[in-house]
Amino acid sequence: MNARRGWIEVVCGSMFSGKTEELIRRLNRAKIARQRVEIFKPALDTRYHALDVVSHNANSIRSTPIPIAQEMLLLAGACDVVGVDEAQFFDESLIDVCVQLANRGTRVIVAGLDMDFLGKPFGPMPALMAVAEYVTKVHAVCVCCGEIASYSFRITASESKILLGETDSYEARCRPCFLDGMREKTTEPLSAAAKH
Ligand SMILES: [Zn+2]
Repeated sequence: MNARRGWIEVVCGSMFSGKTEELIRRLNRAKIARQRVEIFKPALDTRYHALDVVSHNANSIRSTPIPIAQEMLLLAGACDVVGVDEAQFFDESLIDVCVQLANRGTRVIVAGLDMDFLGKPFGPMPALMAVAEYVTKVHAVCVCCGEIASYSFRITASESKILLGETDSYEARCRPCFLDGMREKTTEPLSAAAKH
């Protein structure tokens, strides 16, 4: 019997870029081919439903919330394809877990934010992109000017990297509009606060 062939795919981008939709599309194709599919996400992401990976267009697929990435090694046992959603919220151990799964013959598809709200690489995502065979960067549309957007601009003042209820707190922006917004935040904090 031939050894199964494993590999790693990364689907990354800003908020509202359709990462989860792309993850679900790939997983559904595998399911149609009768492959065994399992989907994991960090247990902290309970914005919509604890058991579903739910994309913003409500096209959903069942998933398992896990507190740490290592649990995938046990739970993914007999899977042909493993999906990971919101991967940016796992710690760096996710990289080794994905490599181990791929090495033992599993196709691993990882979706997550490539940058945080400051425009910095997010958690394990940059290293995952380095070890992946395939990297797909998807884009949103800038709410300010309509250009292609790759930044998640935070409208609220919170400094926490994890902010739930995300759709109200963020907007997709292109590079110039993201930089404009960041400048406004740093140069006019008092006048902006005074308006409210
Ligand atoms: Zn723009």
